Amino acid sequence: LSARGNWHTRLRVGIMGGTFDPIHNGHLVAASEVAWVYDLDEVIFVPTGRPVFKLDKHVTNAEDRYLMTVIATASNPKFTVSRVDIDRPGVTYTIDTLRDIRAQHPDAELFFITGADAVAEIMQWKDADLMWDLAHFVAVTRPGYSSPDGVTLPEGKVDTLEIPALAISSTDVRRRAEHDEPVWYLVPDGVVQYIGKHGLYSYED
Ligand code: ATP
Ligand code: MG
Repeated sequence: LSARGNWHTRLRVGIMGGTFDPIHNGHLVAASEVAWVYDLDEVIFVPTGRPVFKLDKHVTNAEDRYLMTVIATASNPKFTVSRVDIDRPGVTYTIDTLRDIRAQHPDAELFFITGADAVAEIMQWKDADLMWDLAHFVAVTRPGYSSPDGVTLPEGKVDTLEIPALAISSTDVRRRAEHDEPVWYLVPDGVVQYIGKHGLYSYED
């Protein structure tokens, strides 16, 4: 019996992929809302290894991003963190993430969670046509990004879910940290402290 009192025969597992550089409250609300609406038993946060669309950009090392994700999700009994993408050598492709999580949960129904900006690029992802059989896709609303027009998503494969709007991005959190501006309440307290303790995002030498 699930938290909402429904009976499902298969475990329902969400996958929240991201660079999480750093993880912020927008990611957490997205995962929490999808977990609630889709009656998920668990949401697995999967920090990327080398994100394919960010190869030309500096990305914080994987262990720091992984640990911030663990800190941010630790208090939620439904949230877990997976190392599959950071432990797999090379560039991260979602098709590999889905196959690895599928191998670990052979009987589960999988729900891959993306924001409105990521879903606009989804058809360019490696082996996009093979992804739909591995998981349901849920695209959550994100302030500043309208639902993708000009992108033809496959019929009935990607749901759209309106969630509370948090205009937070990791890019803005990094910029704030770099300029010693506050990041309180944009990211969980433990992540504020982790950024300070390790001097993340202060690039002056
Ligand atoms: P960056 O600015 O570095 O790209 P980001 O804030 O976009 O960081 P990502 O790690 O790139 O965070 O995003 C991971 C996933 O979370 C993506 O699917 C993205 O669309 C989604 N997402 C990020 N921020 C929000 C938000 N505020 N509301 C809804 N979805 C979000
Ligand atoms: Mg992003």
